[in-house]
Amino acid sequence: MLPFLAKIPGRRFVITAALFISACIFAIPTLALSENPPYAPKTLERGFTVMGTELKVKIYSSTAAEEAAALNGFDAVLKEFQRIEDMMSEWKEGSAISEINRNAGIQPVRTPPELFTVIRASIEVSKITGGAFDVSWAAMRGLWNFTPGSEKVPDKKGIEKRLPLVNYKNIIIDEKNMTVFLKKKGMAIGLGAIAKGYAVDMAMMELKKLGMNNALITAGGDMRVQGKEGSEKWRIAVKHPRDKTKLLLSLPLENISISTSGDYERYFIKDNVLYHHIMSPKTGYPARGARSVTIIGPDTMTTDALATAVFVMGAKEGMALVEKLPGIEAIIIDTEGSMTKSSGIN
Ligand code: ADP
Ligand code: MG
Repeated sequence: MLPFLAKIPGRRFVITAALFISACIFAIPTLALSENPPYAPKTLERGFTVMGTELKVKIYSSTAAEEAAALNGFDAVLKEFQRIEDMMSEWKEGSAISEINRNAGIQPVRTPPELFTVIRASIEVSKITGGAFDVSWAAMRGLWNFTPGSEKVPDKKGIEKRLPLVNYKNIIIDEKNMTVFLKKKGMAIGLGAIAKGYAVDMAMMELKKLGMNNALITAGGDMRVQGKEGSEKWRIAVKHPRDKTKLLLSLPLENISISTSGDYERYFIKDNVLYHHIMSPKTGYPARGARSVTIIGPDTMTTDALATAVFVMGAKEGMALVEKLPGIEAIIIDTEGSMTKSSGIN
């Protein structure tokens, strides 16, 4: 026996305890390996660039199987956006909408059902907003340039010449034959204020088809939240129109859509004047009635179109319309920077 051990009282206990502890230390990793740790629920997130905007998708996953399936979900969302862009982008030569524009003043064009639905919805929004929303604004395109480095404010004469081409009443739709006809030569339609919202809705439906019921899709200013993020509702932040680092408010939302149109998304400043991309179809110049409009409603196609429309109408007239529309709520920042909320928001 070693002499120093002989001097320790109760050494047998010490040795036994030491052996037991080392056995435990070696056993812990073995135990951990043999039993699966419980799955930690999480929100998975992917970002893409499509339709000229940032697309962000969040899927809440509560099991390992759901996490694996989410990969297909992200893929399906991106594919759906690309499919709709190919049909509804007036920038793509081969799109169905380009075919309608090429035939302005010539003949009606047979239109895919989805594009027909979006154009019909656009006309409905034009009607209820007294023409503040008007997809035939696109005849003004080419006069304005918002591309950084090539910004251009057109001369007044140029605007006056094109303005008569902007009028939704000259978009003739035929329900039976599913055709769209732009009555005047030089007319064009552009779905920049509504197609993204439609794509968000369709992409969310793709996720549901795949069994993913707790998700968030946001494309630029248009968002839909479905189900929950775990036990909580999805928290949606509304940005400050003048200070991107600040948030105006944050709302807990579920199974609903929310769109924001602001004068801070695409703009340039020339001779101290801010020119942005939301046009008044009456003047041909950027609308001047608000800084930002957020609309909450049952589907994203509607909230997208109404956010643009209410922005053009201006804070006062726009809020009066919102109060009349069932299921629609709004948060408006007026030209002075003060915020008003519709009566259904608490
Ligand atoms: P964002 O594209 O930033 O989400 P909006 O949904 O408000 O913003 O759409 C703005 C786009 O809508 C413009 O870039 C243009 O393509 C189109 N647009 C501009 N003015 C009007 C209008 N009065 N009615 C319909 N579409 C418009
Ligand atoms: Mg819009």
